Amino acid sequence: MKVVDFHCDVLYKLLLDDELTFQGSKPGILDVTYERLKAAGTILQTFAIFIPQSMNGRLEPILESVDRFHQLVLSCDDMVWVRTSKELDACIKDGKIGALLSLEGVDGLQGQMPMLRILHQLGVRAAGLTWNHANWAADGVMETRGGGLTTKGRQFVEECNKLGILLDVSHLSEKAFWEVAELSTKPVIASHSNAKVICDHPRNLTNEQIKRLIEKQGLIGITFVPYFVSKAEVVQVDDVLRHIEHMCELGGESHIMLGSDFDGIDRYVMGLSHPGELSALQEALLKRYSGRQTEQFMSGNALRFLSNFLPNG
Ligand SMILES: [Zn+2]
Repeated sequence: MKVVDFHCDVLYKLLLDDELTFQGSKPGILDVTYERLKAAGTILQTFAIFIPQSMNGRLEPILESVDRFHQLVLSCDDMVWVRTSKELDACIKDGKIGALLSLEGVDGLQGQMPMLRILHQLGVRAAGLTWNHANWAADGVMETRGGGLTTKGRQFVEECNKLGILLDVSHLSEKAFWEVAELSTKPVIASHSNAKVICDHPRNLTNEQIKRLIEKQGLIGITFVPYFVSKAEVVQVDDVLRHIEHMCELGGESHIMLGSDFDGIDRYVMGLSHPGELSALQEALLKRYSGRQTEQFMSGNALRFLSNFLPNG
């Protein structure tokens, strides 16, 4: 099995606890570990820099997260850093596990584009403007006034397009979503969101949003956050498949990827609580889809997209 997962929050746990390690970690704390990525057959894992509310708004914790990424993740034998399509190709050819950096919320940049350019130099290749709240760039999905992008937020989108940083709309308010879709000259991704028609949650995407992402040649990461999958008490792997099926019905077959949100959740879809259990998803997919389609969902769509839209070099 080959896996690409476009969203996990393990860096946030590593940032908060100095004692934690990514390889040979204490059991029961991390969902995503080096050993589990190996067991899953992971080709590429995106590591989100997510700063908790108490530390948010400063650059230091963002930089500390980058440091943790180097010290704890990239130091593992088979992990390689992916910043360009060339590095991705080499990673696949050498059978390594690629690690890509993303930023979930730009509060700490405080509206300064030079800081964004520095983060690009530090390897950040995808960015969501805000988490659920409002910040200097945009309103998040839980902000009740439902605003869109600020003037600085618009500058941010333009600068990301220039630099080759993918824009991630997963946590944005609907208004901000449509503004980013309109403004961005590059494809846009929703790294960890499901279909609202299947499970009515503000973090999920409407049919119109899904169609717009497809039209823009973007990607949608199916997420395993149980509340975004189903309202049922116990959420099953088959419930995850209903989102995939729906997105396929909207013409999204080539635009579906995985965005687990492992380490960002404290409850799980039954039997899908860490990368080592992704084989259960693959097995369920193979009951309904061809081997080729299953492979596209598990890794192929994301790899094709990244080889096209990561910077060259
Ligand atoms: Zn998130």
